[in-house]
Formats: sequence, C-alpha cells, structure tokens
Amino acid sequence: MVMFMQSLKITDCHCDTIWLMGKENYNFGRRNPTGHLDLPRLQEGGVGRQFFAVCTAPLQDCGHLHLALKQIADYRRTLSLHKEYMQSLEQQEDLAVAEDRGKIGALLALEGAEPLEGSLGLLDIFYSLGVRVLSLTWNHRNSFADGVGEEQSAGGLTRAGRALVREMSRKGIILDLAHIARRCFFDALELTEGPPLVSHANIKNLCNHPRNLDDEQLKALAALGGVIGMSFYPAFVAGEGEASLDQLVDHFIYAADLIGVEHLAFGSDFDGVEKTVSGLEDAAAYPALISALLEKGFQPAEIDLIAWGNVERILLANLSQERPR
Ligand SMILES: [Zn+2]
Repeated sequence: MVMFMQSLKITDCHCDTIWLMGKENYNFGRRNPTGHLDLPRLQEGGVGRQFFAVCTAPLQDCGHLHLALKQIADYRRTLSLHKEYMQSLEQQEDLAVAEDRGKIGALLALEGAEPLEGSLGLLDIFYSLGVRVLSLTWNHRNSFADGVGEEQSAGGLTRAGRALVREMSRKGIILDLAHIARRCFFDALELTEGPPLVSHANIKNLCNHPRNLDDEQLKALAALGGVIGMSFYPAFVAGEGEASLDQLVDHFIYAADLIGVEHLAFGSDFDGVEKTVSGLEDAAAYPALISALLEKGFQPAEIDLIAWGNVERILLANLSQERPR
C-alpha cells in the first residue's frame, strides 16, 4: 500500500490560488503559513496536475476584463518563475511532455465568462493566453448563462451562451458546468461535443446545497463521459459546521454507486474557501484522503481513476492535438 501511495499522482480540477499570486505576502515557490496551496505543498501532496481558476465575478461588478488579464499575467509569471517544476498544459502532447519531465501540469481556467464581455470576440485572446477550461458563469446572470444564485428566476442559455459552448467545442476548451443554473446545465450538455467537467461540486442527495448536483444531473453528466470533481468545502459536503473526511468519502461512495467511479475526480476549491474538510487542510494532505477512500473499500485501481485517469480522459478528449498557429 505504501508503494501505491507513493506512485499515485493527483489531479485537482479547481483551485483559486491565482488571486494570491499577485499578493506581496504570498510566494508560490515556498511554503506559505496561510492559504492552501503552493509548490512545496503540491509536491508533498503528490499533485501532478492542477487546474488554476481566474475568477473575477465575486470581486466586482465591472472591470472583469482588466482583472482577468491581471490574474493571467500573475499566473503566467508564476509558472515562468518555476518552469523547472511547472508546465502549462495547452494541447494533448503537453500531458506526456510534463509527465516525462516530472513537472506538475497546470491548466488555466476561466471561472465565469464575464471577462469576455458578452461576445465571442475575445475568446481567441484568452485561448492564446492558455485558457483551456471555461465556465459560462459564476453564481449570477451574465450575457451567456444564469448561475445557481438566480434560483427560481434562472432560465436557459442565451443565444450568446449557446454560441459560446459550440465555439469552445470547436477550439478544444473544456466546458466546466460548476456554478451554472440547472436549466443552463442541461442546455449546455445538449450542445457540447467534448465530455464536460463539473470542476468543484458535490452530491445534492447527501447535502442539499444549490451548488450540488442532483441525481438527474449526475446521470446526464456521466452519459456524456463527463466527470465531477468533488469539492472539499464543508458547506457542500455536510451543510453547516465542520465536515469530516468520512463525510466527504460518502459523496464518492454515493456517486460511484449511481454513475460509476469513471466519472469522479477531485475539485478541492483550495484558496477559494475559508474552511476545508477536517484532516484535508491543504494540498499536502491528499494522502489522508486516499487513506480514507481505501479504508471505505475503494480499490487502488479505482482510486487511480479518480485521482488521475478520469480527468486525463477529459483532457485528451477535449484538448486539440496541434499547437495553435
Ligand atoms: Zn467556484
């Protein structure tokens, strides 16, 4: 079992660490006393692939484009400073190259399409800056879609939203359906060509939170070969108060029974939440989660799929083969 733990590589489908990268008191290259994630803790936790989200929606009502570009600049500077250990994953061949070189693969995500300012015209720019994962909205309404925060008034995808999903499929940008309202969720599934991702959410039948997925959504996601990254946010795992590792593992068990382990992954939400599951305090703590999964009966081969193989399948199916010209 020790051998299995040492050889296992982890993929995390969502963190919000980029907003820290521009701060003076944060240094990605060393272990920071606060926050959840930096290079030493990724290495200690056995993380081999990390999604990094640019998220502007909760921060302000305007200036999304400026803020997104600033965050992408901070991210690219960070990767460049640590290029010995980190590599941007932008097309299929990058996956193997990063692995061969023993580097941590980094995926750039846009969490909420507000920086596109309502049109597809800027998508090429974000693509050329490395964005390969995109969620149409955060919790609110924008030109493309409604978020879960719109509650009963939420509708389906707008015309621009439908065009955006089609264009993402054409370009090889992964559709991320975390945060999106239910009707938009199903609209987007009808339009996407590549298997979709829900980068950070949990199971509604175990924890009735608007950000979690119900059984019908989980089945529809799985039917397209999609994957859900289980978040470590206590409010999604157990509602109010603390959440334990065992309670988090219950979400994996439920989803594995309903749709199969081929559709599960990790989506920590590190540095995007004020609290995490007890015992899973930061990116160095993945071995504790792996132990808990093993204890509850998941087989090593199943854990390997959850930790690595399932998201690799999504990446290979979505990312383009060729470097953009
Ligand atoms: Zn989020």
